[in-house]
Amino acid sequence: MPLPELDIQNLKISFSTPKGKLTAVNRISFKLNKGETLALVGESGCGKTVSALSILRLLPEPPAEISSGKILLSGQNLLSLNAKDLRDIRGHSISMIFQDPMTALNPVLSIGEQMVETFLRHTDLKRKEALQKSVDLLSRVEIPSPKEKLKYYPHQLSGGMRQRVMIAMSLACSPRLLIADEPTTALDVLTQAQILELLESLKKENGMSILIITHDLGVVAEIAQRVLIMYAGEIVESGPARALLDNPLHPYTKGLIASVPKLGALKKLGARLDEISGNVPSLEQRPSGCSFHPRCTWAIEKCKTQKPQLREAEGQRQWSCHLEPGSL
Ligand code: SF4
Repeated sequence: MPLPELDIQNLKISFSTPKGKLTAVNRISFKLNKGETLALVGESGCGKTVSALSILRLLPEPPAEISSGKILLSGQNLLSLNAKDLRDIRGHSISMIFQDPMTALNPVLSIGEQMVETFLRHTDLKRKEALQKSVDLLSRVEIPSPKEKLKYYPHQLSGGMRQRVMIAMSLACSPRLLIADEPTTALDVLTQAQILELLESLKKENGMSILIITHDLGVVAEIAQRVLIMYAGEIVESGPARALLDNPLHPYTKGLIASVPKLGALKKLGARLDEISGNVPSLEQRPSGCSFHPRCTWAIEKCKTQKPQLREAEGQRQWSCHLEPGSL
């Protein structure tokens, strides 16, 4: 069996706060295979981004603390690397693209200067070769007149163009793993579809693996092979994308799917979307038992005191609930 590209084992992340040490991610485990796209899904505050940032060790430590677990990249534990080795891994083996490229791109440097800098830092290329590579990459992500665009500053490009620049920069060193944190949330539907298509074709070209973080199940259906559903810092369901979207096992997944607007379902004026009542609990107010119980329509007495364990289901699926899916 080939090693997975990414193997997260029993990862626990806490934050030191004036109210004490609070757990943001509670012993999650998952694997991402070579060439696979895995979606990490949940509402804001579920721990998706914290989990992703921890892979690149981008969380400020302290206040963050990775208190247990392993993060294996092709078998190498990133948690045991020193600062220099980590810098080599970032941008080289693993790249990350963010929801808002405006915050990730430097507003006072031209696109060309930023791209060349990436090449000079991570490769042996000379300046002239780095410039040519930058032009090649911009045309690969379908930016028109790429040579011209190198002279532009981020604010002179549209949101979709800036996201393409971010993707081009993240591909500069042909990473094995691309982490994409809500890469299409700030974009209109058409640009979103183009960016997803672009990621998919670049993945096929490079053979890289993608971990995509999103709250958008439309994005999941479009691009992911497998899905992890996160709630309150824990994985509550996982499985192949199609099976999970067609037949969710966990009440939280069912709620997420029911809250997606469907064409023609809101014909009646004033009709409301199904939604999950309440909010994701804050770190200091995580409920006892099943963290989802205050919002769960099916909660029983046991849910308030006993945490359900992840269980295996047919078809490489897992879910954590005291009830059987057939009874929901
Ligand atoms: Fe709902 Fe109980 Fe299942 Fe939690 S364990 S999801 S509260 S039914």
